[in-house]
Amino acid sequence: MLNSIIPFIRSVYSTDDFIPLHAPVFEGNEHEYVSRAIKSTFVSSVGKYVDQFEKQMEALTGTGKAVATVNGTAALHTALVMAGVRCGDFVITQALTFVATCNALHHMGATPIFVDVSKVSLGLCPIATEAYLDENAHIDGDGQCIHTETGRRIQAIVPMHTFGHPVQLGELDAICEKWNLVLVEDAAESLGSYYEGQHTGTIGEYGAVSFNGNKIVTTGGGGVVLCNQYENGVRAKHLTTTAKKPHPYEFFHDEPGFNYRMPNLNAALGCGQLEKLAEFLESKRRLALCYQDFFEGTEFEFVKEPPYAKSNYWLNAIICPSKDVRDRLLQVTNSASVMTRPVWTLMHRLPAFSSSPRGPLCNSESFESRIVNLPSSPPMD
Ligand SMILES: *Cc1c(COP(=O)(O)O)cnc(C)c1O
Repeated sequence: MLNSIIPFIRSVYSTDDFIPLHAPVFEGNEHEYVSRAIKSTFVSSVGKYVDQFEKQMEALTGTGKAVATVNGTAALHTALVMAGVRCGDFVITQALTFVATCNALHHMGATPIFVDVSKVSLGLCPIATEAYLDENAHIDGDGQCIHTETGRRIQAIVPMHTFGHPVQLGELDAICEKWNLVLVEDAAESLGSYYEGQHTGTIGEYGAVSFNGNKIVTTGGGGVVLCNQYENGVRAKHLTTTAKKPHPYEFFHDEPGFNYRMPNLNAALGCGQLEKLAEFLESKRRLALCYQDFFEGTEFEFVKEPPYAKSNYWLNAIICPSKDVRDRLLQVTNSASVMTRPVWTLMHRLPAFSSSPRGPLCNSESFESRIVNLPSSPPMD
């Protein structure tokens, strides 16, 4: 079985060369738009492509307002500030995530609490979240959610849509309602993924999307904050653009802001890429179906989209029967120039987050030792 995986992947991509995990494709208007941005001399912090990119993201996701940023981590940081997360707060998230989720929290003086992921989505489990809160938190006289043991406030829940598969947002939203928490979606990997017909990142009060080079659509580096409420989007834009009061020549900044805005050059690339999203999605779905058929009835479980969702299938994944088989698969494929990868080391094992509070992480640990990501570039034909 192990050895038939390599010829299968090579046949899908029809190449004998190195097959990367995920490579961007620039076959639309990307060159044209980037050239125009250069010719206009507006390559930096202002320019029409930034506005156009934000408009395109609003049309695509149905969000109240989209705010373009330099990267996904900056988008997440902005979203968390907007959600009222302050120094000393706790925020519930998953241990099975990319480190950016926790870095954004760390740099604002907040601390993650790690809760287990669901087998249905590979993302934050609503049952585990509710159980953690029931056991470890209470609502105080001001209606705030307090971590009982430390007396510190829990302000938000940040689920992450692992590999593009939407988490159970309806259930998590209800928990936020009950416990007075703000729902902030780490939608970095899930552009083009829908939860019950609604675009991910728009169910929570805020969502953060990444346009890094390895994501389904890239701006080189970039991100977007999705804000449910238009007015919040206006404030998020203000914060990410140095909090400067609009004026033809005077500099007045009404609070400490960030220089987080996306350069026009990057937005130009992104405008070209977004025009191709529908094609990428179709192509990735076809690829996912090929993998699904191939692994059907084998000892490997292909990770499918949850029943309530439509996934972008950003990164295809299989769950190996054991860590042993996983290690052999990684070895065999990578030494044959077919790139595969294990999932991230769980966040609570990293030095920076090892003393964060956590609930039981049985599913997270089981996935950590058995998941393998497979080549997932859209095989354009
Ligand atoms: C890619 C990613 C981010 C943000 O990444 P940037 O490189 O800062 O754009 C955040 N969270 C997750 C889960 C990601 O995969």
